[in-house]
Parts: sequence; structure tokens; C-alpha cells
Amino acid sequence: MNHIRVETSLRFEQNPNPTPATEREALLQNPGFGRVFTDYMVTIRYAEGRGWHDAKIAARGPFQHDPACVVLHYAQEIFEGLKAYRLPDGGATLFRPEANARRFVNSATRLAMAPLPEELFLESVRELVRVERDWIPSADGASLYLRPFMFATEVGLGVRPSSEYLYCVTASPVGAYFKGGASAVTIWVSETYTRAAPGGTGDAKCGGNYAASLAAQAEAIREGCEQVVFLDAVERRWVEELGGMNVFFVFDDGSLQTPPLGGTILPGVTRDSLITLARDLGLTVREEPYAIDQWRADAASGRLTEAFACGTAAVVSPIGQVKGREHSFTIGDGGAGPVASRLKAALLDIQNGRAPDKRGWLD
Ligand code: PMP
Repeated sequence: MNHIRVETSLRFEQNPNPTPATEREALLQNPGFGRVFTDYMVTIRYAEGRGWHDAKIAARGPFQHDPACVVLHYAQEIFEGLKAYRLPDGGATLFRPEANARRFVNSATRLAMAPLPEELFLESVRELVRVERDWIPSADGASLYLRPFMFATEVGLGVRPSSEYLYCVTASPVGAYFKGGASAVTIWVSETYTRAAPGGTGDAKCGGNYAASLAAQAEAIREGCEQVVFLDAVERRWVEELGGMNVFFVFDDGSLQTPPLGGTILPGVTRDSLITLARDLGLTVREEPYAIDQWRADAASGRLTEAFACGTAAVVSPIGQVKGREHSFTIGDGGAGPVASRLKAALLDIQNGRAPDKRGWLD
């Protein structure tokens, strides 16, 4: 298989019916999350023997695929999520897109898909942001969310890696992820379901992981919680992550802890950035396992002062309460804590160009 050949640069095709400016401005006032989409999308095709080809930016629209298309049966699909931010001078920037490009390659490799060359990923997201720059909202906390994804398009019911793929990027202006904005969330500890087992696909960003998390998420909602937190699949003891966010714990000695990346957790770009920012602020950060019973005990004793979830979509979300069949406890006073607030501000200040970008994270 030749995965490397790239016979392409992006071709631009004019959208004959772009959204009128007044309508766009109205949509940008209150975009919600993942409901409003821009006028264009990137598509690039892959075929074994031919490599990547037919790369273009054209009007966003539906795909047509055969009912026996591989992705519809065997879920060979991966995706990414990253944001473009409005800068104070009116320009635009992406945040660490090369980390997403690398993770996309890792996800493709785990799902036995053709890895998209990182340069092509970067060119695709940069070009889409350039074309759609008027769709980047300027309100505080708002941004243009980019959704690169790739799926298996070969027709046939044999269970084997597809020989053809379609890569696509769409863009969606977004506001706050949680309806409650910056207030603390309540999370549900799933005892029925796990998210990922050793040797599985937990550290790949594939659609199947999210399909498998939905019953647990629905259980969380039924129990009056916003999100589910998963325990490890082997001992059902160690806290791993939420359905779409990594998790951090803050202790009364000022130190932080987050579960280590061991193959069952998604290596979040936000997680990695917050570890760096916290250490820059002089805080100690441990990447070590944390048991659910310890979490409850530390919340009760006051040793644990804060917990928060983090990810591109939700940024930093304080966790106020934890519920489960055997668990129900409050962290601190149940509201947003100072360490989460400080880290969130530090991250947003860099992403929005209000603080110096010392590490070259803006693109
Ligand atoms: N864990 C899971 C399961 C996720 O889906 C996400 C969102 N991509 C994260 C963690 C956070 O990753 P990132 O900070 O790169 O958005």
C-alpha cells in the first residue's frame, strides 16, 4: 500500500449560494454548539495505488454513498476537533493544529486506515479558516470549531480495511459547550459501562468510541447529571476520563493530578497544554492513577479542593458534584475553584492572543 503519495493541493470551487452577510451575522450572535455550519468544506479522496487526490474546498453539502459502503457496517471512521480563534487585531489563529494532525495519524493507524500526511491536514484546516474567516465569532468564549474526519468508502461487505477513504473538514461557529456556561457540572460514575479496555481503541478518536459511550451518557442524563465519568475496564477502580473530556484533580497542597495516558485514554491537546501551563505557574502536576474511592475520601476530608474536566469543546469545566450508585459527593463548595479558573483564563488568554504565545502554540 502506498500511503505517502500526495498528488494534490487544494482546488477552490466557488459556492454559488453563500449565506448572506446579514444572515451570517445573526447566526453568529448565538450559535450554540455544532448547530450552525459555514458555507464551505474540504474534501480529499484516497484510493489504494493512487494515493491522496481530488483535494478541494467547495460548497458544503451532502455525500452520496452506496448502502454497502464499509463505514456504514464496520465503523471505520476517525475524527478530530480543533478551534480557530479571533485575535485582537481582527486576524485569526489555530491552536496547536499540528497536535491534532499527529493524533489523526495515530487514530488512522489504529483503525487500519490510510494516514493522512500531517502537512495535508494542516493545509486543509488553514485553508478552510482562511476561506471562512468571516465566520469566526468575536464574542468572548466563542470560536470557529473545525471538524476534520475521515471514513471508509469502499463498497463491499467483507470485513477488512477499506481501500478507499474520504477525508473532509467542516466548520461550525460555536459558543459555550455547556448550557450553564461556566458553572460547575455534575457527573455520573458509570458502573454498568466502561469506555475502553487495554488493547482497544480508547486512545484513538474514532466514532465507535462515542457510539459506545452514548448509553452511559444517557444513563447520566437520566440520573440528573450532565456528563459520565468512566472507570478502567479491568479493576473498575481507576478514574479514566469523561465521554469527551480529560479530568484533573486539585489538592490542598496546590498540586494537580491527572490520569496517565496508558492507551485507554484519549491524549487531549487541552490536557497536555494545561499540564504545561500549570507547571509554568509553578504548580506540581502528577500523571498518576487516581481511584474512585480515593476521590470520594479526599472530597470528604477536604484534601481535594477542586476537580475539573477539559477539552477543546468545553475548555475547562469545574466538576461540582459526583454521583453514582455507590457515590454521591460534593467537591469543595460545589462551584468553580480558583485553580481551574486561573488555568482556564491562562489558556483562553493565549488562544485569543491576549497573552504572549511563548511556546509557539498559535498557528
Ligand atoms: N477525551 C475524549 C474522549 C475526547 O473526545 C476529547 C475531545 N477530543 C478529549 C478527551 C479532550 O481532547 P482535546 O483536549 O484534544 O479536545
